[in-house]
Amino acid sequence: MSKPLILVTNDDGILAPGLKALVGVASRFGEVVVVAPDSPQSGQGHAITLESPLRLRKVHFDDIDAYECSGTPVDCVKLAKNVLLKDRTIDLCLSGINHGANSSINVIYSGTMSAAMEASLEGVNSIGFSLLDYNFDADFTAATSIAETIVEQVLVNGLPPCKLLNVNIPSLPATEIKGMRVCRQGNGSWIEDFQEGLDPRGEKYYWLTGRFVNKDHGEDTDIWALANGYVSIVPTGFDLTVHGAIPSLKYLQESAFQKIMYK
Ligand code: MN
Repeated sequence: MSKPLILVTNDDGILAPGLKALVGVASRFGEVVVVAPDSPQSGQGHAITLESPLRLRKVHFDDIDAYECSGTPVDCVKLAKNVLLKDRTIDLCLSGINHGANSSINVIYSGTMSAAMEASLEGVNSIGFSLLDYNFDADFTAATSIAETIVEQVLVNGLPPCKLLNVNIPSLPATEIKGMRVCRQGNGSWIEDFQEGLDPRGEKYYWLTGRFVNKDHGEDTDIWALANGYVSIVPTGFDLTVHGAIPSLKYLQESAFQKIMYK
């Protein structure tokens, strides 16, 4: 049986140590192709580049087939799928290991998770990995062995019925991690605080900071798992519909406008 083809990407850029750790994991299981942004792209969510050309440059990355891309994480996946690997089948897409959490509501801002989601909506099993440590020189030792375990399991068992996992790993030594929890996305939000200042030309600037607030006290959430020393694994999708709200909004179909326009 031929080795699986694994696409590896991230949002922290081609030079991030978290990417190198994930490439190490992927290369134990398959043929690896890396396409990652040429600069940090955290917080870009599902952004795509429409108003400027994209560049792909082959880079030296041990003995791995690797490219840096001038665009966003989602651009990386689109170029990999439709240009670099257009005649091949990608068996798995791995994104990360992100420097910083992508649990709870962070998933909608995350370039790491959007890259994995882009691959999943093309039908590719995908996993986003994040370590709860923002530092460039974070210790990826435990995260690497956890990613290895999960990738091995997913290659054997698949992900039915979903196509995407959001995996977050506490910043703890392996011996202090209590295990893995398959859980739901917890409800939380950010209290934003824009720091104001003056740039060297005397123009005012704003710099986003803030703190995360947990609004969900369930013990089945990613927030709870991470706070209690577990790895969180959330099966994730891209259908943003609140299905339960459809029946109670049927009244809109009966509204006056509807009656006038479409009677
Ligand atoms: Mn990032």
